[in-house]
Amino acid sequence: AYVNGHYQDLRDASVNIEDRGYQFADGVYEVCEIRDGKIVDFARHMARLQRSLGELRIAMPMPLSALLIVLREVVRRNRVGYGIVYLQVTRGVARRDHGFPPAGVKPSLVVTARPLSFAKNQDTAAHGIKVITHPENRWPRVDIKSVALLPNVLAKQAAREQGAYEAWYVDADGYVTEGASSNAWIVTTEGRVVTRSAATGILAGITRAVLIEALAALQLRFEERPFTPQEAHDAAEAFVTASSQIVMPVVAIDGQPVGDGKPGKTTRRLREEFHRFSSFS
Ligand code: PLP
Repeated sequence: AYVNGHYQDLRDASVNIEDRGYQFADGVYEVCEIRDGKIVDFARHMARLQRSLGELRIAMPMPLSALLIVLREVVRRNRVGYGIVYLQVTRGVARRDHGFPPAGVKPSLVVTARPLSFAKNQDTAAHGIKVITHPENRWPRVDIKSVALLPNVLAKQAAREQGAYEAWYVDADGYVTEGASSNAWIVTTEGRVVTRSAATGILAGITRAVLIEALAALQLRFEERPFTPQEAHDAAEAFVTASSQIVMPVVAIDGQPVGDGKPGKTTRRLREEFHRFSSFS
């Protein structure tokens, strides 16, 4: 792990107990996929990181060029060919007090990387995942990739306890917003690929943004609009997107099959083609 200027064995890596990330969840994070030892869509993730930090008035801990060196080094030290790199920035260490700390307190930066099993991920994708629906109970600023994830933790656990992998939040108007750690999509029986606009209610996923470009290049019809769980039930296909899973087919929602209950054709194609449209650093 990289912790505030030092590379440390993960087992020994720790942060100060007065870090505001620990006490107030006063920080943000990013997760990038690693493929062939390379960081996928680094520039886009860093643009979102800068936006999240800006919204919270936390300073960038170091220039982007230095951050790229740190991420690469943590990936290298962990020998990650395929997996993820995690980066967290908090407002820093200060005596516990809700308001911002005095000037001079520097943001904390932590980076970890972990290999994942490519075969296992492919196997999960071959079978598809199940999702449950869950009332939207997060704060409205879900556009900020904040480490305050308690509602997401509880929704994911609810999914797990019902034998599902992901929870789809449903807002007060009855529309799916997104997953607890992914964006939600359907493919209609007319072949239109649908996901909610990033203007409200969701985190603007990097995988989502790249996929929208891919859809245009592949000449697939795309609609940016909300959909209901009922529409998802009636859809031909459904899937989720996230950096750690790319395009992951959804085969059941609240115990009801989507389409024929198998990963859909369009979903599989998008999963296969996705990396043609991403960048590698
Ligand atoms: N929405 C939420 C709430 C997430 O936590 C994530 C990622 O973890 C996503 C969407 C997908 O974002 P990305 O594609 O950038 O990983």
